[in-house]
Amino acid sequence: MLNVPPQAFPAPSSQQRVAAGGRAKVPLKPGRSLMDWIRLTKSGQDLTGLKGRLIEVTEDELAKHNKKEDCWICIRGLVYNVTPYMEYHPGGEDELMKAAGTDGTDLFDQVHRWVNYESMLKECLVGRMAVKPIAAPKGMLPENKVLGASAKDLTPSYDWFQTDNLVTIVIYTKQKDMNAELVIVDCQDKRLRGEIVMGDHSYLVEIDLDHAVQEDMAVNIAEKVGKVEIVLKKKDNIHWKMLGQSLKSHNAFIKRTDRGLFYRKCKLVSKKEVTHDTKLFCLVLPKSTHLRVPTGQHVYLKQNIAGTEVVKPYTPVLPFLPLDFKEPSHHDGAHIYLMIKIYSCGLFTQALDHLQIGDYISVSNPEGNFKKSQVQTSEDLFLLAAGTGFTPMVKLLNFALTEVSCLWAVKLIFFNKTEDDILWRNQLEQLALKDERFEVQFILSQPTKDWVGKQGKISSSLLSEFVKRSRKDSKVLICICGPTPFTEQGVQYLKDLGYSQEEIHAFTA
Ligand code: FAD
Ligand code: NAD
Repeated sequence: MLNVPPQAFPAPSSQQRVAAGGRAKVPLKPGRSLMDWIRLTKSGQDLTGLKGRLIEVTEDELAKHNKKEDCWICIRGLVYNVTPYMEYHPGGEDELMKAAGTDGTDLFDQVHRWVNYESMLKECLVGRMAVKPIAAPKGMLPENKVLGASAKDLTPSYDWFQTDNLVTIVIYTKQKDMNAELVIVDCQDKRLRGEIVMGDHSYLVEIDLDHAVQEDMAVNIAEKVGKVEIVLKKKDNIHWKMLGQSLKSHNAFIKRTDRGLFYRKCKLVSKKEVTHDTKLFCLVLPKSTHLRVPTGQHVYLKQNIAGTEVVKPYTPVLPFLPLDFKEPSHHDGAHIYLMIKIYSCGLFTQALDHLQIGDYISVSNPEGNFKKSQVQTSEDLFLLAAGTGFTPMVKLLNFALTEVSCLWAVKLIFFNKTEDDILWRNQLEQLALKDERFEVQFILSQPTKDWVGKQGKISSSLLSEFVKRSRKDSKVLICICGPTPFTEQGVQYLKDLGYSQEEIHAFTA
């Protein structure tokens, strides 16, 4: 059974009200939550006014439907009547009206490009554009046609060869510092998808293979020469005449924000309590996937909730902090650990909590703009975390303490409501004892009277007390993550205290 939230759902702080990039949130009227929208779409009401007919829409026709009470929008070639959805849109009616009567694909991608509007608006589908208005994704350079000679030389390329039982696809990235985090490969059924991340672009290999392959594959990366080998095992030891059919984005160099999110189904293998309301979920990637989530990046989880695809971001953690613990068997690239707070009224987290061991959930490619090089050049690292805003700090701490030699001090200032809410308190205290560079400060906003530590919420005075350069001119990086008001206020206080934009990294969606 779905836990259907009460009237005030979602709460003002809910992610459903949060627009990307820190834009103003628009409070929705009571009874206008995502769950209410799902209910309306299931009610059998005619939401298009066309009684189930699908029509071909010309650009002229689309342009006529540009008023709140009669608003059509084209997204990826499909036209939707969004008038019934207006009051349910987390970004507000005005945001939606910006695309009224036009192609809103770019607008939708900018706001929440991970949201599956096809699923969310399926009952509002009017039809297809008669002439498809969107061209091939921007930045796509398929056959080197757009490139000059020198740029062409820098574009990755691929080749393939076979033996009796193996097919090897070789990608020449022409990048010297390739590593496992920059290579994402999936082979589902006979469909192969390889993505090489190169700055804000990706090189894609997408092929419908000519013959079936086995589930397990190998990905070998020659880091210095930038060569990536995808080794597939043939199911039948026959000679392949060709590798397969190219798909739309095959052999393309594409802006990362222009390529859609790609999901694979991962199996839930364990679920352990961290605190009274937070659990550590362990998911295992399929054998036919190669994926590593870089430090500071998040993934999107996708679940079908009451017939609608719902997507939320989560930041993978490690199974434990870098103490002298014995490695658990699951600590390798194939497992993704997620520390997730289950909200009693949470649409997504309630559904997540109902997953059983052995169930599957879709996990996207990693996203995020944090760069490890920001840590590699700093001497003082401050981590300001609130609640589950601790999650990006886990890999960051591990990276800083195990791989960055120039760091003198790493300080975590961890804001929580009560003592019971502190995530991994024991491990953090042990780490502080073990590594003299590391210090942790807990600050509670709703402590019991027994709490002798610091109390309060983020403030200028708390920050000036705890965030201090260890030397007058030391290089500082301050990372901040938590509820949006916490992060926004924190960034402002830090700027007021004289820290520059370059010295602050705020984790957001
Ligand atoms: P919603 O349906 O959105 O909200 C329902 C109820 O949940 C509300 O009524 C309220 O009671 C409660 N609620 C929701 N959000 C809050 C809040 N911020 N404060 C207090 N109450 C709240 N979450 C994690 O647990 N672990 C992570 O690793 C993680 N990583 C994230 C990474 C990014 C980039 C972002 C933007 C968010 C991340 N989140 C993480 C938050 C996560 O994406 C969801 O917003 C969260 O799990 C709530 O989803 P929900 O659908 O259950 O709640
Ligand atoms: P919570 O409600 O338990 O609050 C924890 C602490 O945050 C509080 O004790 C308080 O000090 C501070 N806080 C809360 N609301 C505040 C406000 N309005 N103003 C100032 N300070 C405030 O937190 P939670 O339920 O664990 O929520 C964690 C938040 O972190 C969620 O909103 C989640 O989306 C976000 N998050 C973001 C990312 C990311 O962007 N990468 C990753 C993980 C979590």
